[in-house]
Amino acid sequence: SYVIAQPCVDVKDRACIQECPVDCIYEGDRSLYIHPSECVDCGACDPVCPVEAIYYADDVPDEWADYVMASVEFFEEL
Ligand code: SF4
Repeated sequence: SYVIAQPCVDVKDRACIQECPVDCIYEGDRSLYIHPSECVDCGACDPVCPVEAIYYADDVPDEWADYVMASVEFFEEL
């Protein structure tokens, strides 16, 4: 799935939410999160993010690798 990384923190522009065809982007306190099993990998959210926070999971930059698991954990805690 796609993952939202560090640049979203305290930004939460929400442009991605408008683009997602399956409404799988959810709002947390400080960041938006993509539901890992609801995401259909369409990629529509990626180009509309003004801070380039969205990556395909395998392509998340190393310094933000923690955000992949953080996204999984966010939905486990809901
Ligand atoms: Fe939604 Fe597509 Fe982005 Fe996945 S890749 S979060 S389905 S817009």
